[in-house]
Amino acid sequence: MAGEFTLRPSVSGLPAYVPGASGDDPSIYKLSSNEVPSPPAPAVLAAISDVAAEANRYPEMYGDTLCHALAQRHGLSEGNLIIGNGSVSLLELILRAAVTTGDEVVYSWRSFEAYPILVQVTGATSVQVPNTPTGEHDFEAMAAAITERTKIVMVCTPNNPTSQAATHSQIGAFLDRVPSNVLVVLDEAYAHFDRTEEKVDSLALLGGGEARANLIVLRTFSKAYGMAGLRVGYAMGPSGLMSQLRSASTPFGVNAVAGRAALAALESEDYTDEVVEAVIAERARVTAELRAQGWDVGEPQGNFYWLPIGERSHAYAAEALASGFTARPFPEGVRVTIGEPEANDLALALAATWARDLGLTPVHPD
Ligand SMILES: *Cc1c(COP(=O)(O)O)cnc(C)c1O
Repeated sequence: MAGEFTLRPSVSGLPAYVPGASGDDPSIYKLSSNEVPSPPAPAVLAAISDVAAEANRYPEMYGDTLCHALAQRHGLSEGNLIIGNGSVSLLELILRAAVTTGDEVVYSWRSFEAYPILVQVTGATSVQVPNTPTGEHDFEAMAAAITERTKIVMVCTPNNPTSQAATHSQIGAFLDRVPSNVLVVLDEAYAHFDRTEEKVDSLALLGGGEARANLIVLRTFSKAYGMAGLRVGYAMGPSGLMSQLRSASTPFGVNAVAGRAALAALESEDYTDEVVEAVIAERARVTAELRAQGWDVGEPQGNFYWLPIGERSHAYAAEALASGFTARPFPEGVRVTIGEPEANDLALALAATWARDLGLTPVHPD
């Protein structure tokens, strides 16, 4: 008897994928996936329909045109960039290329839910360092968690789901402490929304691409550019490393529609700025109201806020759905995206009920 076909234990041991609350009901506002509420720029929509008629053709194998445009925008060389089917696919590529059974990947927790899954599939071990009580990365503890087995440290700023951002000097000091044989992957999915005074300047840290041999920065078109459904992200780092990663990547990894749409998005900077500013204005309105209700939300720097209510987050999400919007519950709290003003008002109404029930008293910013 040969027995049954099985996948590797690290894969068969993964929890089954449970889809989030459905966004298919048009009467329910979707505040559970950190999407922006606006459609992509008009030029992006035009690019999508233009390229449709050429869908019989393969796109560029590694997206050289988009890499070139991104390099120009960021003051890098094309060789410092790779693009992928969303930045999550680039993180998967990096992990697949860098780690295997016995290696450790250090990251703050709670952070992006994709991290533990992607690490587990490789067979490597996640080392999760608890966030500070205010939802920030604990860089001291993260540095201390690095061992001889550590190959990669993930840093997410602003952090999903707590929405707190690290400062430039925090990241700089952390990079100086990380051994040169450990790769730091800086996930900046929400960089556009970060308005901290000392915002991380990752391009300065990359120093033209070659300043640090062990730093990769991830960005995405999914959030500020409103292109989550198209799937494009990019990674920036030293050309030697990027060249090897490119060789290990899926050829034609970004489809023609997404690639051309991303080019058009880069040329629609004013539109993107307007979308981002609208989100930030709503975020200011919503967080002021939440503080007045008694919630301590810190200074959210993503397009979402975090209510640290522990396991009650599941009850919160169920009530959210009943009141007309989706929210994303985690064991430590609930994450709510800044969406349309009407959706944010619904979310504020639910937050007010909970604040009363929890006996919260107004938080005054200092
Ligand atoms: C949304 C998000 C991404 C983007 O993922 P894509 O694959 O580019 O859509 C990456 N990192 C974090 C932390 C995110 O929240």
